[in-house]
Amino acid sequence: MNAVRCRQCREILVSKHVHDFVRCGCANQTFIDGGDDYIRCGGVNMSLVKVLVERPDRAFLLRDTNTYGILDVFRNRDDAEEYAASFDDVEILEYVLR
Ligand SMILES: [Zn+2]
Repeated sequence: MNAVRCRQCREILVSKHVHDFVRCGCANQTFIDGGDDYIRCGGVNMSLVKVLVERPDRAFLLRDTNTYGILDVFRNRDDAEEYAASFDDVEILEYVLR
């Protein structure tokens, strides 16, 4: 579960699952998305967005083996493998935060 606080309206926003996109009602339009799988958050002014959950200690990056570009980031391997299975030219890299 991911959570951020909007420092403008002080609302706490929680994303409970992967497609749970939540946005506050004030002018900063702070939002969060991704549930347990990844953290995507933003707002008009990022300095007014405070992330309340700790970063995961590891992530699984999907990389395009032709361009070496990172396509997506997942927090658990099962989701990364499920997504990668639909592409031919994708590899999974495990990234451990220290
Ligand atoms: Zn707000």
